[in-house]
Amino acid sequence: MDDSLRAVVARKAIDVTGIVQGVGFRPFVYRLAQQCRLTGFIANTPAGVTIEVQGEPDHLDRFLQRLPAEIPPLARITALLPRDAETQSESAFRIVASHLDAPPKALISPDVAVCDDCLREMRDPRDRRFRYPFINCTNCGPRFTIIRDIPYDRARTSMASFKMCPACQAEYDDPANRRFHAQPNACWDCGPQLRFLSADGSLHDVAEPLREAARLLENHGILAVKGLGGFHLACNARSDSAVATLRERKRRVEKPFAIMLRRIEDLDRFCQADDSARQLLLSIERPIVLLPRKPDSGLAESIAPRNRFLGVFLPYTPLHHLLFSSGKFDALVMTSANLSEEPIALDNDEAARRLQGIADAYLVHNRDILRRCDDSVIRLAAGRTQILRRSRGFVPVPVPLERESQPILAVGGELKNTICIVRGSEAFLSQHIGDLENLESYNFFEEAVQHLQYILEVQPKIIAYDLHPDYFSTKWALDRQAGDIRLIGVQHHHAHVASCMAENHLDGKVIGFALDGTGYGTDQAVWGGEVLVADYHDFERAAHFEYIALPGGAAAIHEPWRVALSYLLKHYVKDLDILDLPFLRSIDDRRRQVIQQMIDRQIHSPRTSSCGRLFDAVAALTGIRSTVNYEAQAAIELEMAAYESTDEGAYPLELIPDGTRWQIGTYPLFQAILGDLRQQKPVSDISRRFHAGLATTFVDLAQKIREQTQLNRVCLSGGCFHNILLFRLLLDGLRAQSFEVYFHSEVPAGDGGISLGQAMIAAHRCELR
Ligand SMILES: [Zn+2]
Ligand SMILES: [Zn+2]
Ligand SMILES: [Zn+2]
Repeated sequence: MDDSLRAVVARKAIDVTGIVQGVGFRPFVYRLAQQCRLTGFIANTPAGVTIEVQGEPDHLDRFLQRLPAEIPPLARITALLPRDAETQSESAFRIVASHLDAPPKALISPDVAVCDDCLREMRDPRDRRFRYPFINCTNCGPRFTIIRDIPYDRARTSMASFKMCPACQAEYDDPANRRFHAQPNACWDCGPQLRFLSADGSLHDVAEPLREAARLLENHGILAVKGLGGFHLACNARSDSAVATLRERKRRVEKPFAIMLRRIEDLDRFCQADDSARQLLLSIERPIVLLPRKPDSGLAESIAPRNRFLGVFLPYTPLHHLLFSSGKFDALVMTSANLSEEPIALDNDEAARRLQGIADAYLVHNRDILRRCDDSVIRLAAGRTQILRRSRGFVPVPVPLERESQPILAVGGELKNTICIVRGSEAFLSQHIGDLENLESYNFFEEAVQHLQYILEVQPKIIAYDLHPDYFSTKWALDRQAGDIRLIGVQHHHAHVASCMAENHLDGKVIGFALDGTGYGTDQAVWGGEVLVADYHDFERAAHFEYIALPGGAAAIHEPWRVALSYLLKHYVKDLDILDLPFLRSIDDRRRQVIQQMIDRQIHSPRTSSCGRLFDAVAALTGIRSTVNYEAQAAIELEMAAYESTDEGAYPLELIPDGTRWQIGTYPLFQAILGDLRQQKPVSDISRRFHAGLATTFVDLAQKIREQTQLNRVCLSGGCFHNILLFRLLLDGLRAQSFEVYFHSEVPAGDGGISLGQAMIAAHRCELR
């Protein structure tokens, strides 16, 4: 060729970091380079991938434009840095072997839903994977839950024991194939297989385990199904008897169950949903989405008693799709296979042991689950998604931070525990671990700490923990006290506020509303209705609910009537009898005396400013609920009652100056509630006025604090913001007064989010020295 006709050639080297391994990134770059007529190579590096491309400048530009715009569905780029490089003599684009010498820092992908291409093949009778329950490709399937070690390749996953057949191996080796380096690649000939086990865990040898499982579900049975991150218990959601049996056997009296729908087209039958809800349900994370339920949907009554929301999700593994393929049912209850508040069951033996007497049969397989991971739970509010439980599909995707910090481990709280590791400018929250008070969860906690440190390749020397001396996570942290380990105790509500600040990338001081059930205060009282002026270093308590006695401590959490009585005793002392309340008549004299004595003599009656307990008290007083079967049940049912009302009133509360802060006084609130009860006002109106009264008072308070501090940013955090009515009323009220309001979206507002706040506070406190 004449040299004058040959175009100028340039070369670029590009380092890409993020989730770019095990997600089809290299074949994608390979195809893109070919389409742009470039030579060069791509290789995995410890931090991600490195690409070198060479060709005409126009073609290089096109490549650099298309690269970030067209990445595969599971890939996420955190940084992409092109620089000029020396041209080479080469004739093709190649995928070269990984460099494994340096410590890996690449991110691991979460588990994601089966893709449409795989589903199409699974449903095609001519395809070699027709009805294969473990079909996957680089764009879909298990990741986080099958990883034993890093870097991510088959030998370091629970697929290591399955040797690929020649057909699968050929796909795996072909850069142009959708299964190029798809580590869990498998088929009928070489991959995992299903088994059907009887109630006692013994193998029930049937030709088609799936058909047997579907038949059991049709016949109102309860099936344990091995999934991605653990076992589910499944039953037909339209069968009253099956759902009732499941509740009885699982000892889960009333806590709502989520249901899996056969297909998105059926959604309208069960729920009110708009396009954003649909998109969320269909997203690759396939979370459980809370949506307003429709009456008369034909679902079993006991799925979500007295709750206007329904948790729904769609099939996310090929196995789920196949279970529904009999067409005999359109909705299944799918609930973590555990007794209440224990972690999700993991392996076949453990499941058979723990689910004895609960499941009628088991649909299992021989691919090990190495990491537990529950389903994530999301809702839509104020135009944003709000994660209530962050697990499958989201873990281990990091939350980006504003600044770099040294490695930190934050061990979270006691209930709904998660842990968090900060590495560089990213915060990695663990999956939902659960309530640490039971042994299974505690073991899971230790395992999660180990595993997260391991896959992130950090050994943090700073450990942040909650101040509560009896939390298992706190004790665990304090046991690590040795040598160069630095321990940093963080107040619970400060952590809530810092968590909200972190995900909204705020710095400096804010007004923080931290409203929840329980958190250990610096004065050793049980805090929970707190307004803080806070930054990442420290906080001042600007306001809180006035203290009341919590007779029986934790027992009062299960028995809201105790809290209601405590409020009445505080406000009416000896005049209780002239109140003539149905609530008081429901408590026998002896119990009343016991509670009164506990409070008078300060026996096992800690002081509390809890907002959650105030909800409990109002729920008990109005006859909604005097004891609960699951956490926050009274508050949830009180909220549900408010939706039946259009009343526009708001109960008064008082702001009592107390030195430099305020106490939120509840006497006028109780006066007003008792007045309405005497007039036999509907409970729904009382609940509505209570919610509106709280919101109005909090807005007043925020204005008073703004006058003092000139702060205009307000953060909303704490489990009470799972109450969507309180959240909306307060958000609207604050915005009407021109506050900038920040709330949770990526991490839970409840205690599942505090590990992030702990980590942020520890990071800033360490920076000072
Ligand atoms: Zn796929
Ligand atoms: Zn195969
Ligand atoms: Zn909390």
